[in-house]
Amino acid sequence: MTKDSDAISDTIKYIKNLFATEEFIPLHEPNFNGNEKKYLNECIDSTFVSSVGKFVDEFEELIAKFTGVKKAIVCVNGTNALHLCLKLVGVEDNDEVITQPLTFIATTNAITYANAIPIFIDVDRDTMGLSPKSLRQFLNDHAELRGTECFNKTTGNRIKACMPMHTFGHACRIEEIKSICEEFHIELVEDAAEGMGSTLNGKHLGSFGTLGAISFNGNKIMTTGGGGVILSNNNQLSAKAKHLSTQSKIPHKWEYRHDEIGYNYRMPNLNAALGLAQLEQLPHFLNSKQNLAKKYAEFFKNLEVSFFEDRPEEKSNYWLNAIIFNDKAERDVFLEKSNSNGIMTRPIWQLVNTMPMFKNCLTSELPNAKWLEERVVNIPSSVR
Ligand SMILES: *Cc1c(COP(=O)(O)O)cnc(C)c1O
Repeated sequence: MTKDSDAISDTIKYIKNLFATEEFIPLHEPNFNGNEKKYLNECIDSTFVSSVGKFVDEFEELIAKFTGVKKAIVCVNGTNALHLCLKLVGVEDNDEVITQPLTFIATTNAITYANAIPIFIDVDRDTMGLSPKSLRQFLNDHAELRGTECFNKTTGNRIKACMPMHTFGHACRIEEIKSICEEFHIELVEDAAEGMGSTLNGKHLGSFGTLGAISFNGNKIMTTGGGGVILSNNNQLSAKAKHLSTQSKIPHKWEYRHDEIGYNYRMPNLNAALGLAQLEQLPHFLNSKQNLAKKYAEFFKNLEVSFFEDRPEEKSNYWLNAIIFNDKAERDVFLEKSNSNGIMTRPIWQLVNTMPMFKNCLTSELPNAKWLEERVVNIPSSVR
């Protein structure tokens, strides 16, 4: 693309055309054209704006139905939903949690909040998510089963959980990862923060593992302002999730009794009211984004840049569209030109294992993560 600067101006022209504007085009903006104001007003009029109210219960029921799980437990945000998931599956101080280095920082922060230690394993190039092949390789080299627990021979720590992430709403090879985790007695928690509305073989992302979490932050495909949800098919864990997220208060009409250290993680009714209105429009959002992705795929076919498409077995929500450049130099030219022409574009995340807080953590070889880190760029993806 660098050699042919026309390709860059063509791309810029094409995106401006798609969004039918000469004004600044953000990467992803929320869309509030449904019952948002109606439900928010209802919520305020009811005076139940905090963590008790009908919208919270209704929102949870509808999310469970939409994602096909037994229970959905809503939280204040996706990061603390992930933190709770790790606590719930039994992650304790100094346990190790396997994850990917190519992810938003929240994945790794959640592991740290649980006082656990992340291990960074490479991703697959065609999913941008945790590679089952690298996972198996790592476990073959380092894992030792003692009874029904998995230990890291190198560090002596217990490997308690594995938390892969579904990048930009595209499914990682979660079925293969799940069977490896079962073989090694490792709990599987999915960071499906970006995956609301995405499925793999017809099954919603976040519903494969013991637990999964989705985010409803303002930049995600649907939003509650701030918010997240835990997906669970295990009644005991769902009950515990609600308990822990409400300061571990034992339900009682007037007494305040608590039986363990809990958290103030429950989503307020006000946020759930917004979420309910957004969920009603999710099928429309998905449609619009999948259409946009088709248009991008068609356009980039003629250029020397590849557009990241889902695999046949998945249906991605195309939360953030991604293109892959041949090298970092080309990528940098595009980032510079698009951003200075009023089109917001952004490189994929810096690898978490290179950040100062995580630079001493154990990693596998990371050729794919490094390759993607230098080449992937997100382009405008809002619902039109
Ligand atoms: C957005 C996001 C989160 C965290 O969600 P918040 O609701 O912003 O706390 C976690 N992991 C990934 C991969 C995300 O993209």
